[in-house]
Amino acid sequence: MPGVVLTAVTTPVSAFPIYDLHSHTRASDGLLTPEQLVLRAVEQRVGVLAITDHDTTDGIIPAREAIARHQLPLRLISGVEISTLWENHEIHIVGLGIDIAHPGMIAFLAGQAGRRLARAQLIAERLEKAHIPGALAGALALAEGGAVTRGHFARFLIAAGKADNMQQVFKNYLARGKTGYVPPQWCTIEQAIDAIHQSGGRAIVAHPGRYGLSAKWLKRLLAHFSELGGDAMEVAQCQQAPNERQQLARYAQDYQLAASQGSDFHQACPWIELGKKLWLPGGVESVWQRFPDITESVCSQESSIRGE
Ligand code: AMP
Ligand code: MN
Ligand code: MN
Ligand code: MN
Repeated sequence: MPGVVLTAVTTPVSAFPIYDLHSHTRASDGLLTPEQLVLRAVEQRVGVLAITDHDTTDGIIPAREAIARHQLPLRLISGVEISTLWENHEIHIVGLGIDIAHPGMIAFLAGQAGRRLARAQLIAERLEKAHIPGALAGALALAEGGAVTRGHFARFLIAAGKADNMQQVFKNYLARGKTGYVPPQWCTIEQAIDAIHQSGGRAIVAHPGRYGLSAKWLKRLLAHFSELGGDAMEVAQCQQAPNERQQLARYAQDYQLAASQGSDFHQACPWIELGKKLWLPGGVESVWQRFPDITESVCSQESSIRGE
């Protein structure tokens, strides 16, 4: 891929790498292939990357193979982003350091895939009634056999000339209460945490500032998550309100949760980039310090690819 510095190929991961623990590939609604994503991560000087596609781990093995093939100085954490429903809110739980071959996790993600497909059919029916035909076939074609998300419906609707950009299409068609919105039937937070723990991973509340929750409800969510045995919460993202990071860091301390950071990268855009502006405020313990096993588990998986 153009732009990758060849001298980086044999350079080991730095002792103080940049961690980006939330990213997407074409296995769900990201626009890059797993190979393109890991090459871009190295270009952006990320040393430890978690791929966390929506309810699927299908991007992990191709990414691991690409890292081995190009001998990239990049540690990959096997991850997933699970959609859950809590008090009528869609809450995303990231799992890090999971065993993607664990039968319990495979069965759990098969259930989530079934829920995604059932919801996609209902979304398409609603759009059809609003005189927008072909949305199911369109979204499934864009998903290319991966997890079908509202992101794929968004792209279909933009291509059909219904909106100019993602923000507009969500606002007009796919947000709660709009023509193409279907109340989801996701699993509970407890089920997501259990599936993650059973497969050897750690459970992290994704982007707590993006649910539109008041401080009271956000604290309620974090208390619930912590009581259920949840491990960490995302504190740093590359795009955040000025005081949000400090506030989230205080919550992480209050609820004894480790702190994570991630770009939630889906595609190249001016304000979101792999590894960009990712740092944790003082006073929190990072998820990789509290749970070093999330990166260690990856090493054994990498050796197994090399046949060691
Ligand atoms: P789903 O999990 O199928 O409900 O799809 C949710 C995904 O849609 C998120 O992960 C985002 O990638 C995308 N999304 C949600 N809201 C917006 C928005 N307002 N603008 C752009 N993308 C969005
Ligand atoms: Mn997404
Ligand atoms: Mn999310
Ligand atoms: Mn995400």
